[in-house]
Amino acid sequence: MRIILSALVLGGCASVSTQLPDITAPQLSDEQARQEVLAFEDLGQQQHRLMQVALPVLKANTELCPKTREDIGVVMHNLKTYPKDLRPAAMRELGAKEEPSVRLVVTGSPAEMAGLKAGDQFLTAKDKITTPTAKVIQDSLKAGEDIQIRRGGKKMDFSIKSETICGYTVRLSQTSTINAYADGRNITMTTGMMNFVKNDDELALIVGHELGHNTMGHIRKVVSNIILSLGGTRYTRPFESESDYVGLYYMVRAGYNPDGVEEFWRRLAVTNPKHVARAKTHPTYPNRYLSIAAAREEIKAKQAAGKPLIPNFKTKDKKS
Ligand SMILES: [Zn+2]
Repeated sequence: MRIILSALVLGGCASVSTQLPDITAPQLSDEQARQEVLAFEDLGQQQHRLMQVALPVLKANTELCPKTREDIGVVMHNLKTYPKDLRPAAMRELGAKEEPSVRLVVTGSPAEMAGLKAGDQFLTAKDKITTPTAKVIQDSLKAGEDIQIRRGGKKMDFSIKSETICGYTVRLSQTSTINAYADGRNITMTTGMMNFVKNDDELALIVGHELGHNTMGHIRKVVSNIILSLGGTRYTRPFESESDYVGLYYMVRAGYNPDGVEEFWRRLAVTNPKHVARAKTHPTYPNRYLSIAAAREEIKAKQAAGKPLIPNFKTKDKKS
């Protein structure tokens, strides 16, 4: 009785006036698989590009970073990396497993030169699967010992020469919003930002900016300011300007071209006009445009004079 009733109700709701095309179940599942593959391919390309741009920035600035770590240039994943609904496809298309494995090897990285491949799994001395950030791996990398890898059921030894980079992890978030974040440990870039930046120089500028929040201890300072002043957002504005300033040094030190990168802020103004005249917690776009252009001239003058590219620090520790 209940079944008939709900069928009637559904039938009533679902009735449309036009004759819609018939889609079969196999057609639907084929198309679903295709779209999943497209989404994974795009994610892989974006991830690769982000690492390719960010690693040189992290590498070129170790002397200005309070925290460093050993890196080999791989992106790891496991099933939990993906939203629940995508996990079967991640297993099928990308070979994602319960335990961490290599998702991609960055071109020109120590891992690539050593011959690592997607799907490889790192082993501890006790044959447990681990991540290359885990202490055991870090220790053996530093000591120059061979790293044990499991590849398709076989155990193999690889000699990998790691690189010292600033000690933060770069992550990609699959979100269409144009944004990037730093939390003191990570640098996160949205796919919206990846699609918005015009070239790798602009992407390096954003990576440098977020790195600046981490190296300058802004997160710690914001947290303590909030505790001290019960609403420390007024400190956010100078922190943003400071990250823009040091971030530009970071990108130039990594070999990226700063010419015209301030155009990023004009393009963002077109997308987001309400922030042109007024911004609550951040400096306005015109302010950021002009400040970045000014910092670039400062850097160019240092380059011309053969001076080291180190941001200018206040001589006395004046509290703002
Ligand atoms: Zn910021």
